[in-house]
Amino acid sequence: MRLVRQNEQCGHEGGRGERRGWRGRRGRGRVAALAVSAAVVATAIASGCAADGDERGGAGAHGQQPQLGPPAQALRDYADALRAQQAARAAAAKRWGLASAPLAAPPAPAVKPRITTRKGFEVEGQAQLPPVFTTVPTKDKVVFLTVDDGAEKDPAFLRMMSDLKLPYTAFLSDYLVKEDYGYFKRMQKRGVVLNNHTLNHRYLPGLSYEGQRREICGMQDVIQKRYGKRPELFRPPYGNYNRDTLRAAKSCGVKAVPLWASEGFARHMEWREWDKDLHPGDIILTHFRGREDWKGTMPDMVRTVLKTVTAKGYAVARLEDYL
Ligand SMILES: [Zn+2]
Repeated sequence: MRLVRQNEQCGHEGGRGERRGWRGRRGRGRVAALAVSAAVVATAIASGCAADGDERGGAGAHGQQPQLGPPAQALRDYADALRAQQAARAAAAKRWGLASAPLAAPPAPAVKPRITTRKGFEVEGQAQLPPVFTTVPTKDKVVFLTVDDGAEKDPAFLRMMSDLKLPYTAFLSDYLVKEDYGYFKRMQKRGVVLNNHTLNHRYLPGLSYEGQRREICGMQDVIQKRYGKRPELFRPPYGNYNRDTLRAAKSCGVKAVPLWASEGFARHMEWREWDKDLHPGDIILTHFRGREDWKGTMPDMVRTVLKTVTAKGYAVARLEDYL
């Protein structure tokens, strides 16, 4: 495993994030300098490059053990923790049959990108409505995993994602979720945000404004009641929507409408873009499905998606960190 950076290289210019952080925080004292140095050490360790000798606490220039002040000790602890994390992740990858360990996502962006509706996806009056998009604008080499509907409730999927420390976001439809609200409660307790995919998974453009409101706002109410939090994200079933859909969603608290750029199945990927490739910030759709639906298990799907994502040099990041 290694941290994913644009233009990854050895040394203090190891990544865009560090450079920006260094310039932004220069002169704010030891704590800021420590944070920057920690990032440098993290990048160096993760990329296999050597960090500064004194920061790593090696033998001094004259063969003496250097005295470690609090900042150096903190750095050493941080480096140890990072190595332990990497080892744990590699072991988890092996346990779950992954050819290689997933890449670790860079830190969440300090400033969230401004989300706009994808060209060609607008409705009339779009500027006043929640944005519809398939890719998050970012230069980080990350993609986002989103899992829809809720049919398959495989405990192994929860274990696998926790074990691999892979973030994902769920878009739930009540007619499936209500078979076992507890499964998704356990998911939420593991840090997954539960979002809105309507009550009954209807084709929304075929419904009146009021009908759409019942489907979308009804699911807002269910998630709030069952899970204590009103979703900010909504995804229309099949990705189909019209102006009434976005008006209805806005009226019950939806802030954004993420669609997807590619889709993961148990044994293959499908692509929206002509180049059949991943791009920084792409949202990947997949589903809670099992053997009856796609001749494989949820863990098979995760392996298939990760094989592509990791081979192409991307990390899976947390969608909510960017929205
Ligand atoms: Zn769906």
